[in-house]
Amino acid sequence: MIVTRFAPSPTGLLHLGHAWSAVQAHGFARAGGGRFLLRIEDIDGTRSRVEHVEAILRDLEWLGLDWDGEVTFQSRRLNHYADALERLRAMGLLYPCFCTRADIAASAAAPHGPEGPVYPGTCRGLAAPDLSRPHCWRLDVAKAHGEELWWHDAFSGWRRAEPAAHGDVVLARKDAPASYHLAVTVDDAAQGVTHVVRGRDLFAATDVHRLLQALLDLPVPEYRHHPLLAGADGARLAKRHGAPSLQAMRLAGEDGRALAEKLRAGELPVGIALLKD
Ligand code: GLU
Repeated sequence: MIVTRFAPSPTGLLHLGHAWSAVQAHGFARAGGGRFLLRIEDIDGTRSRVEHVEAILRDLEWLGLDWDGEVTFQSRRLNHYADALERLRAMGLLYPCFCTRADIAASAAAPHGPEGPVYPGTCRGLAAPDLSRPHCWRLDVAKAHGEELWWHDAFSGWRRAEPAAHGDVVLARKDAPASYHLAVTVDDAAQGVTHVVRGRDLFAATDVHRLLQALLDLPVPEYRHHPLLAGADGARLAKRHGAPSLQAMRLAGEDGRALAEKLRAGELPVGIALLKD
């Protein structure tokens, strides 16, 4: 059975781009008689807000996007991420890193990866790391990535994973017990997600998720990275560029179900287009 999910981070209000993504995931599940799950990715305790969670639930109801079962909160699943980290640590694939963002940005050796500067490996192989100092845990990608790994995207076809392009990614943060990469991979498997429907902005990150799936013996879902929405300026819709929130549209009395119906049919509101990449 098809199982998809919508997995917003409650660090802000949802906007049209999120509605677009949720409609795709919901529609794909429903068209195939499958399940649509809602997972709140609130692992970042400093930036997640309860009022944003409430707004997300109301926005989805307003759009008429019903989900199956209980809402999952990542903040209640920390033991699962800790178990996965422990397994990777026991395999000798993790190392503590004490660098700050500024240290990494200042490193002349830092090449650029899909998500900004790639960590130059400064703390890899420290002889006697002092774990009383603030640190995160990184995956030693060169050590971890042996055999060729592939994954499939419904829109782009087969792709050979290149996790090394991301450098030694963080799996447990200084300020949060797991990173996005680890939590999303563990949860998609735990929830039996068969089809990961999400925006193209996360396409490259899937290479890292594929590596984690191989290391943790997790099933590999099918991916559907859909195009993103752009505003009148041609740039990706984002709240910081003034994209109106779904909450604002809802409170202004707009018809959410009609909006979802249009998005489902591929009809975008005036001034909105698919982002060209
Ligand atoms: N929580 C992520 C976000 O809001 C999405 C995660 C995913 O769909 O894999 O950007």
